[in-house]
Amino acid sequence: MIRKVLAIFFVFLFLCLVGRDVYSAFHDKTIFIRVGIVRNASSVVINGKTITPSSISGSKMLFKGSGSKSIKVNKRSYRGNIEVRKSGKRKLTVINIIDIEKYLYGVIKMEISPRWPKESVKAQVVAARTFALKNRGKHKDEGFDICSTVHCQVYGGVTAEDKVSNKYVNETRGEVMTYRGQLINSSFHGICGGMTEEPKNVWNGGKTIPYLRSVRCNFCKNAPGFKWEKKVPLYKIREKLQAAGVEVGKVRSLMILRKTRTGRASKIRVTGSKGSEVVTAGKIRSLLGTNVIKSTMFTLQKKHNNIVFKGKGWGHGVGMCQEGARGMAKKGYSYKQILKYYYRGVTIKKWRGK
Ligand SMILES: [Zn+2]
Ligand SMILES: [Zn+2]
Repeated sequence: MIRKVLAIFFVFLFLCLVGRDVYSAFHDKTIFIRVGIVRNASSVVINGKTITPSSISGSKMLFKGSGSKSIKVNKRSYRGNIEVRKSGKRKLTVINIIDIEKYLYGVIKMEISPRWPKESVKAQVVAARTFALKNRGKHKDEGFDICSTVHCQVYGGVTAEDKVSNKYVNETRGEVMTYRGQLINSSFHGICGGMTEEPKNVWNGGKTIPYLRSVRCNFCKNAPGFKWEKKVPLYKIREKLQAAGVEVGKVRSLMILRKTRTGRASKIRVTGSKGSEVVTAGKIRSLLGTNVIKSTMFTLQKKHNNIVFKGKGWGHGVGMCQEGARGMAKKGYSYKQILKYYYRGVTIKKWRGK
């Protein structure tokens, strides 16, 4: 009797263990993503061979990669398969069809250094994976999901990979952030400057998003580049405004009219010899260059024929502060704690969606 019970128990245990493996193997299925890596090119070199629209007989051509063998497109190598499509008038679009996990290998180093503390790199991996899945289909009209530039997420193929960050991708395989069962908009930026920003204050038509609330961040204050200063000549400001259709004559002064609750400039009055105009701080930043005026968390001062921007932070300020994540990891926080700090109320789990 005891033997029978034991036998049944072991069979049951065996089924539980095997069943679980079968279950997770089934659910850990590969998700492929189509990444646009070359657009509107008149020719492209694939594995040393030049392809032009006339070399393609139908509408597209497929190059299959195998195992560890990558495909060379122009000067970069890619895992997965490569599709070359005819687009527009005698132009080519090149698409990398790739397992999303392998895609992430070529993304992380383009954002942060894989040598940062482990938990901060893992937080970046989960944010990047969530971003990619959330934005699938963004370039549907062009035949792919996401592009490989800052417009979506910078991706450099095998050439941009790093052994350390590849390991962190594997360790967090499939993990994403969701809010009420939906993938979140996992925005991130370099340095918040002390407070992260609400999306409604950054993007035109931006709404209040519960998980992207503004949070205080004391973790980035020792980051290199936390504070910055930039002197811009008045004539240059005039030039840039004119090019954008804003004409106030010779610029005399710039004054911050309104700030957001986090201390970022929101509206600026530009006064010139022919009158004055109110422009958004975001517009001033993009006109002068987002790498020149690193954020909108600045004060303004007129000095001779210049405006001195004294600022803090780098980037739009919405979502995860990357230097803050680095600071949190240094203090011993886990990647899940880091993500839940910047994205409030989210769940971190393996993505079971399609
Ligand atoms: Zn894009
Ligand atoms: Zn910060």
